[in-house]
Amino acid sequence: MLKRADQADYDTWLSVGKGISRETRKRLRSPAIAKEYRLLQAEQVELIKSIPREAAKKVHEWVKAGLADGQRFSEIADRIKNDLGATTESRAICIARTETARARSNFTQARAKAVGSTGYIWRTVGDGAVRDLHAKLDGTVQRWDSPPICEIGKGGTPVRSHPGCVWNCRCFAEPLFTKTGYEK
Ligand SMILES: [Zn+2]
Repeated sequence: MLKRADQADYDTWLSVGKGISRETRKRLRSPAIAKEYRLLQAEQVELIKSIPREAAKKVHEWVKAGLADGQRFSEIADRIKNDLGATTESRAICIARTETARARSNFTQARAKAVGSTGYIWRTVGDGAVRDLHAKLDGTVQRWDSPPICEIGKGGTPVRSHPGCVWNCRCFAEPLFTKTGYEK
């Protein structure tokens, strides 16, 4: 049962990764977007606390490399499976998936802001695994400069972030534009 859940996670992560890989090569060509994206990625607080630091660093680097040069995400997934070893595999995949989703979210944000978007509609994937809090956010309008509360952290501290930026979140932002003439 656990094995099957892991496999499902792994498949989800792979499908997210494919989408990024296809789009990044095209979109990273805009200097403004590339710069904003790098800033957002650099600002990210490290999520990686639950696996050995070296393993976490590797995963982080592999995801980054995949984004930078359009590497196939199946290759990164294989490295995670083969190189990290069984004890850290499922956590590593969880981290890789989260990092990938955050990268996608940052990418959307960078691209949207570069063409004058001030906000977005929070979207979930709409299945039974979506967090209650995120199900409530589904369809709401949010601002890029003011992420909503999307998680309750340790000691009841609210965590604010955009879709895809917290553990296992598969939500995504649908950018809104204030001027006409722009398309997603
Ligand atoms: Zn979510």
